[in-house]
Amino acid sequence: MNKGLLVVVSGPSGVGKGTICNALRSQYEDLVYSVSATTRLMREGEVEGVNYFFLSKEDFQEKIADGAFLEWAEVYGNFYGTPKWVIDAELTAGNNVLLEIDMQGALQVKKAYPESVLVFILPPSEEELAKRLSGRGTDSAEVIAKRLACWQQEKAMLKHYDYAVVNDTVAQAVEKISRIITAEECSVKRMEN
Ligand code: ADP
Ligand code: 5GP
Repeated sequence: MNKGLLVVVSGPSGVGKGTICNALRSQYEDLVYSVSATTRLMREGEVEGVNYFFLSKEDFQEKIADGAFLEWAEVYGNFYGTPKWVIDAELTAGNNVLLEIDMQGALQVKKAYPESVLVFILPPSEEELAKRLSGRGTDSAEVIAKRLACWQQEKAMLKHYDYAVVNDTVAQAVEKISRIITAEECSVKRMEN
């Protein structure tokens, strides 16, 4: 049996990663979504263990020391990490795993798992990115400005990715990612026997 694929979706804040991953999760039930740990406060509507495992800074540091994360990063002032044991168990069982993480984390994953598939989600334009960030209504003007400023540096990370998908419409982006997964599953170099 081949190992599962580790598909990493990342891109700037507000580009639509969460929306795309939710759609992928509901359309492809066999795709395992990895729930990250975070120290940020829970947003309205979020559920513990579904969106994130919400941890205190102390508990998060303890997990780092225990080597529990495949990768972790400080993103916009909060800590986020991917639980290593979940990923390893699912990949070994032959399941495809979907990660939605920031760009520093994506590069760490590629280093640890060179066979992972990195997908960069791009906005149709910078104006649209700003519109989506403010339209979401979850962040203050100050936080939005900080995230938009980060995008200016984040763009340069594209060259480290395997694929780029523009999020024009969610349906089109989901379709493209599902085709990327199919192509990677058919890749001869991935075949173990
Ligand atoms: P991210 O997870 O990348 O920070 P979200 O998934 O929270 O981004 O999306 C940010 C906002 O943009 C949300 O209000 C979401 O409904 C909206 N959005 C996402 N994708 C699209 C799209 N293709 N067209 C228009 N709005 C979108
Ligand atoms: P948010 O606070 O909006 O949910 O997420 C902020 C950023 O953290 C997003 O770019 C998201 O992709 C990233 N993120 C979420 N989970 C992880 C993780 O486990 N590791 C890393 N490195 N980034 C993450």
